[in-house]
Amino acid sequence: MKVLVANLGSTSFKYRLFDMAQEQLVARGGVERIGAAQARTYCQVGERHWETIGPVPDHAAALEQCLHQLLHPEVAVLCSIHDLAGVGFKAVHAQGLTGVHRVTPAVLEAMEAYHAVAPAHNPIYVRAMRLLAERFPELPLVAAFETDFHRTIPPAQRLYAVPYEWAERFGIQRWGFHGASHRYVATRTAALLGRDRLRIISCHLGGSSSICAIEDGQSRACSLGMSPQSGLPHNNRVGDFDVFALPALLRETGKSLEELLDDLACRSGLLGLSGLSNDLRDLEQAAQAGHERARLALDVFVAAIRHYLGAYLCLLNGADVIVFTGGIGENSASLRQAVCQNLDWFSISLDEERNRTARGEAPIHAAHSRVQIWILPTNEELIVARQTRDLLLRQAASGGPPCS
Ligand code: ADP
Repeated sequence: MKVLVANLGSTSFKYRLFDMAQEQLVARGGVERIGAAQARTYCQVGERHWETIGPVPDHAAALEQCLHQLLHPEVAVLCSIHDLAGVGFKAVHAQGLTGVHRVTPAVLEAMEAYHAVAPAHNPIYVRAMRLLAERFPELPLVAAFETDFHRTIPPAQRLYAVPYEWAERFGIQRWGFHGASHRYVATRTAALLGRDRLRIISCHLGGSSSICAIEDGQSRACSLGMSPQSGLPHNNRVGDFDVFALPALLRETGKSLEELLDDLACRSGLLGLSGLSNDLRDLEQAAQAGHERARLALDVFVAAIRHYLGAYLCLLNGADVIVFTGGIGENSASLRQAVCQNLDWFSISLDEERNRTARGEAPIHAAHSRVQIWILPTNEELIVARQTRDLLLRQAASGGPPCS
């Protein structure tokens, strides 16, 4: 069974194609500059690489171009479109819905209802999924929601202290996101260490950042709450914020609520604090050169990470492993160093040399550290491919539409 996992940006379409018999990555590729006069469609199979240039007006045309490339006799990783069992999406949020679902009009409506809760993600996904469903009516589309892994979070960690019925009637609670990544960290760490009973603190630090407390493979808490704008500061999204600052801001700035929410969702986080960039590499470079607000943005980011790290050490009564993943978690030795400094009392110690030189999957703790510390490149697409396969097989077994 072949499953394509799609990752959508406003003008980009990226995919990974898996053969689920051996859970093998068969091809990766995508389209850049959708909607521009000249878009680039690319595809990589092992060491081989193909590329075409030409107009690609929308996301449905992007999938069409990619399938065309995958079916091309030179590439030939698909024999026909029927070779593809389905397309999986790492969907973010929907009103009253979590788990893994076939994309139906009802699912799209539930996602649409939360456009304003997940403004950077939902509108792009809903628009593209609608186009794909129209253009490829035979192709099963599957939405694997990022909130799914966090269904095991108990009420004490899940509920906000608001009128109780808001949670029950309106779903106002800490949902948690980055579920595919934290689930991957849970299963991969258990496999690497050869045991399932583990307390893991998973730090996914990238464009979006979150920390998850995992006990015996299950999520117990996540720094992301009702929306993907919460928790740690993100590249340009705010993170935790006191809503009672809003009346003061409305009055002082003269902006509307929508404009302020847009500031919090697009011009805050590392970008807002530094006034310089939303990219950690730029901030590290600038801070080294003496840029004060770049240093400040890094300090706030590190403080927030340590805040959740401390909370989750309490929650789990310690930890067996701390995992760093995501573009920042995997690549920034200095950020990892700053997060882990002065934690001797918890017996959390980095090996400086390992931390500086490690690449890929690697332990980076000192020999005397009771808590292991690992770098672990995440593989969210593999999790979505598994979830897509499992749903399609379940539906086929229960007399639903067949899958190849
Ligand atoms: P997304 O959340 O969009 O999937 P990623 O997990 O790919 O993002 O992380 C992207 C971020 O990773 C970039 O914004 C950048 O800040 C950071 N990053 C990437 N490479 C490095 C590096 N070598 N050093 C420090 N930070 C890096």
